[in-house]
Amino acid sequence: METSAADLLALDAAHVWHPYAPMPGRVAPLLVTEASGVRLRLADGRELVDGMSSWWAAIHGYRHPVLDAALTGQAGRMSHVMFGGLTHEPAITLAKTLVDLTPEGLEHVFLCDSGSVSIEVAVKMCLQYQRSRGRTAKRRLLTWRGGYHGDTFTPMSVCDPDGGMHSLWRGVLPEQVFVPEPPAGFATPPEQSYVDTLDAALAEHAEELAAVIVEPVVQGAGGMRFHHPGYLRALRELTRKHDVLLVFDEIATGFGRTGRMFAAEHAGVTPDVLCLGKALTGGYLTMAAALCTPEVAEAITRGELPVLAHGPTFMGNPLVSAVANASLGLLADGAWEADVARIEAGLRRGLAPARDLPGVRDVRVLGAIGVLQLDHEVDLGVATEVVTAKGAWLRPFRDLVYAMPPYVTGDDDLAVITGAMLAAAEKA
Ligand SMILES: *Cc1c(COP(=O)(O)O)cnc(C)c1O
Repeated sequence: METSAADLLALDAAHVWHPYAPMPGRVAPLLVTEASGVRLRLADGRELVDGMSSWWAAIHGYRHPVLDAALTGQAGRMSHVMFGGLTHEPAITLAKTLVDLTPEGLEHVFLCDSGSVSIEVAVKMCLQYQRSRGRTAKRRLLTWRGGYHGDTFTPMSVCDPDGGMHSLWRGVLPEQVFVPEPPAGFATPPEQSYVDTLDAALAEHAEELAAVIVEPVVQGAGGMRFHHPGYLRALRELTRKHDVLLVFDEIATGFGRTGRMFAAEHAGVTPDVLCLGKALTGGYLTMAAALCTPEVAEAITRGELPVLAHGPTFMGNPLVSAVANASLGLLADGAWEADVARIEAGLRRGLAPARDLPGVRDVRVLGAIGVLQLDHEVDLGVATEVVTAKGAWLRPFRDLVYAMPPYVTGDDDLAVITGAMLAAAEKA
């Protein structure tokens, strides 16, 4: 006999720890039984239009026939083999495709389990690079405030110090160098005074800095802020000038979300190391990648420890690689570009009325990202009720009601999402 929805929720409350939640949880989660296209089906029969792409990953929607077929097809050949000493077509194809897609100059691909782990790997690459060159003092990182890079300890150390609660972790987290948030606005021309601040901080700490790490163009979970690509060009010049590596975390922005395949393309900049995740597998399974230039790889390989000392058990998993290849295949014809532009226009249109709502401080849209910033913290319980009553699934945080819909979202479904965002801004 099937366990009833009520019994499942009781078991969930008793045993299951949810993200960023106390145990036991205070707000019961919604029980999902199926998902298809852009819709989540709940156990009580309701259907919600997904405005979150399951934390920005499910860009093609759910139960996509091509992705489903890739997964079952690969399961019929092999689900997993270790990656030490063995290799296979799905991972090789994936690495080659990523090299071809990403900005010129990134030639080597390290596959790993999750975005946070790819940040760990990227930082390890940078530290090993500096060590190999005899620059053993260069082991700190510089970043700007307002960032988010994941939840394991190294990424936490470069998350925004307030949002990441660094005071709680004093003595535990490595202390990195922080500069102020980049001035806001994708279209707001760069301020020379901010570039001077970057230059001064890099000059002051050059002897101890291994790398600068930032999210290009869009800071995601740290506050959904956009900045001008000119700051990335400035960082590229300044990191070269001060002999520091540059890492771009495109785990959130990669694969078309900002309107370009990678946010780095807005700036025409190639970082030394690039982290990818989230939408890499079309939201089916967890995988991330850290890509680097030959210069970084060659220095590591010349070092005292001539290997990159990392190797996740499930590295390069064939099932995940096959789904990632299928997802990248769906992007290959470039149709996503028109979809993202259409969603951008729909978000701008649908969210425009929010400018006149009391309590709304800012309305911003870039690519398939729409954000309402309120002048108060959102009441998550109220917001969830309001948006689900409107037929949408959204997960606001702090003072932000935002959507990152799947690229396949139709105009009517997008209107459901923006309507729910307006309602949440009004009532939560
Ligand atoms: C989600 C995210 C991460 C962490 O990825 P996980 O797969 O959750 O570990 C890192 N950086 C950015 C920019 C992200 O959005």
